[in-house]
Amino acid sequence: YSEEEKTEDYLFKIVLIGDSAVGKSNLLARFARDEFYPNSKSTIGVEFQTQKIDINGKEIKAQIWDTAGQERFRAVTSAYYRGAVGALLVYDISRRQTFDSIGRWLNELHTHSDMNVVTILVGNKSDLKDAREVPTSEGKALAEAQGLFFMETSALDSSNVVAAAFQMVVKEIYNILS
Ligand code: GDP
Ligand code: MG
Repeated sequence: YSEEEKTEDYLFKIVLIGDSAVGKSNLLARFARDEFYPNSKSTIGVEFQTQKIDINGKEIKAQIWDTAGQERFRAVTSAYYRGAVGALLVYDISRRQTFDSIGRWLNELHTHSDMNVVTILVGNKSDLKDAREVPTSEGKALAEAQGLFFMETSALDSSNVVAAAFQMVVKEIYNILS
C-alpha cells in the first residue's frame, strides 16, 4: 500500500481537560515541540496539534486538543469533546483544589463523550516537591476507584515522562481497537 494509506490508518482524537493553570498547554508544548513556557502564554490558539506516535510498528496520529482557556469560565463546549477516544485529565499536585475538581471533569467528559473514552489521570508539576498538596497515593487511589490510568508528570523538567503519558493513552486505545 501507498505511504499515504499507511499514515491514514489511525487517527485518534485526544482531549486535554482539567482546571485552569494545571499545565495542560505546557504538557502539549513539551510533548509536541519539547518546549516549556514559564509564563503561561502557551495557549497558542490552535484547536489541536497532531503528533505521530509509533505503536507496534504502526504509525498512529494523535490529534491532541487543547482548550483556549475557556475552562476558566466552565465553558468547554460539547464540540471540544465530540469524537474523542482518549483524554488526559490533569490536576496540579501543588493545588488540592484542582484535584477536588476531578469528579466534575469526569462528569463533563462522560456527558459529552463515549463512556469508554480511555482516560489517564495526570498529576502535573511533580517538580514542585516542597509545595505538594496531593500525595501520589491519593492520585493513584482515585484513579483506581474511577477506572483511570494514572501518572505524575512535570512539563517543566521531564519530557520523557510527559511523552509516556500521551503514549500510554494512545497505546490503550490502539489495544482496544485492534
Ligand atoms: P493550562 O491553563 O492548564 O493550560 O496551564 P499552562 O500550561 O498554561 O500552565 C500554567 C502555569 O503553570 C504556567 O506558568 C506554566 O509555566 C506552569 N507549569 C505548567 N506545567 C508545569 C510543571 O510541570 N511544573 C511547573 N513548576 N510549572 C508548570
Ligand atoms: Mg492552556
